Amino acid sequence: MTKSKITRETVRELDQNDPLHAFKDEFYTKEKSYYMDGNSLGLLSKRAEQSLLTSLNDWKTYGIDGWTEGIEPWFYMSEKIGEMTAPLIGAKPHEVINTGSITANLHQLLASFYKPTGKRTKIIADVLNFPSDIYALKSQIALQGLNASEQLIQVESEDGYTLSEDHIIEQMNEEVALLLLPSVLYRSGQLLDIKRITRAAHEHGIVVGFDLAHSIGALPHQLNDWGVDFAVWCTYKYLNSGPGGVGGLYVNEKHLGQKPGLAGWFSSKKEKQFDMEHELTPSETASAYQMGTPHILSSAPLLGSLEIFHEAGMEQIREKSLALTRLMMNLLHQELPDFGFQVANPLEDGRRGGHISLLHPEAASICKALKNENVIPDFRSPNVIRLAPIALYISFEDVYDVMFLLKDIMQNEKHKQFKNERGIIA
Ligand SMILES: *Cc1c(COP(=O)(O)O)cnc(C)c1O
Repeated sequence: MTKSKITRETVRELDQNDPLHAFKDEFYTKEKSYYMDGNSLGLLSKRAEQSLLTSLNDWKTYGIDGWTEGIEPWFYMSEKIGEMTAPLIGAKPHEVINTGSITANLHQLLASFYKPTGKRTKIIADVLNFPSDIYALKSQIALQGLNASEQLIQVESEDGYTLSEDHIIEQMNEEVALLLLPSVLYRSGQLLDIKRITRAAHEHGIVVGFDLAHSIGALPHQLNDWGVDFAVWCTYKYLNSGPGGVGGLYVNEKHLGQKPGLAGWFSSKKEKQFDMEHELTPSETASAYQMGTPHILSSAPLLGSLEIFHEAGMEQIREKSLALTRLMMNLLHQELPDFGFQVANPLEDGRRGGHISLLHPEAASICKALKNENVIPDFRSPNVIRLAPIALYISFEDVYDVMFLLKDIMQNEKHKQFKNERGIIA
């Protein structure tokens, strides 16, 4: 099959036939600006703004009674958001709670599920995961009085960007207590086969956790069907909750009803919490993995934001997201074959997440040149440019424009005027 040339007409037609096209108006986007960084911090939607204002107004109107009497009572907000999040990850409503951050939730769930006993003491992770996850694993191993250099197995990567499921599975044996992997790798955008890894790990009696930072809101999951034991995520990336937005966790129902590793009064069964007893009666839902008072004003935007996901539907979001990243790669191939870019993400639809990952020795200066043209990319040291065309607010024509702006930068060497080094936040 010969691929026909992609033109502006081609992408305009894709936009006209896009069932999600209208959702762009739900978001605060800027004219003639291309936001390709929604996988680091999603944009504000009007509905998220409105739900935050509702909670502020409940505070203004009700004071302390906002906990139970407000339009969105604060006492039940974490559970309500948990229930709204559940369909995005194929979980049951009581398996999900809105709380903490990825790192805090990892500490909580490792404290709850990492129980080294006898010879079974090791943890499988990988060399490509985000540093915070690895720091949490190492500190939890140390808290058990063990040595991380002996207990933490970090599965190697052959190409430096992707992992092999076969290699992960080869590391499994009766000495491994727990496994923690990202669903989608934050640099290369590789999507791991969660179902296959989980099944293999369970055959070896290993507890399975996944970090969904780069997959929640980008693609559908079936955590309960797959039998994943626990998962964590943040909400400021694809779920558009805002800077520092409260994260979430999932615990498979077979583990519910236990005391959490790190208890606090919000771990309580709700009817018992204000009895103020010194013996905890844990909630029988994932709510038990909360600790202290929920961060209401950093959760409230999710009430509005998640409505958009329900209306758009995760399957449709995934379908458009794949079409956008495919278009991006096809345009790279068509317009920029000669400028030294290498694609680090897997090319197959079933193995990539929501962003594409381009390698280039001058990545830092190219990102600065893109910013100068009102394209917001994401640079990961030393040589990775991540571009995330978010299905809810990026059009096919936006992707077309971005790739032609990139071509213009490379052809005219516009990036040469910038230093090829990273800023303080990259
Ligand atoms: C974004 C991200 C984090 C950030 O953790 P926080 O505790 O939310 O700051 C951690 N791990 C991964 C894989 C991420 O992508």
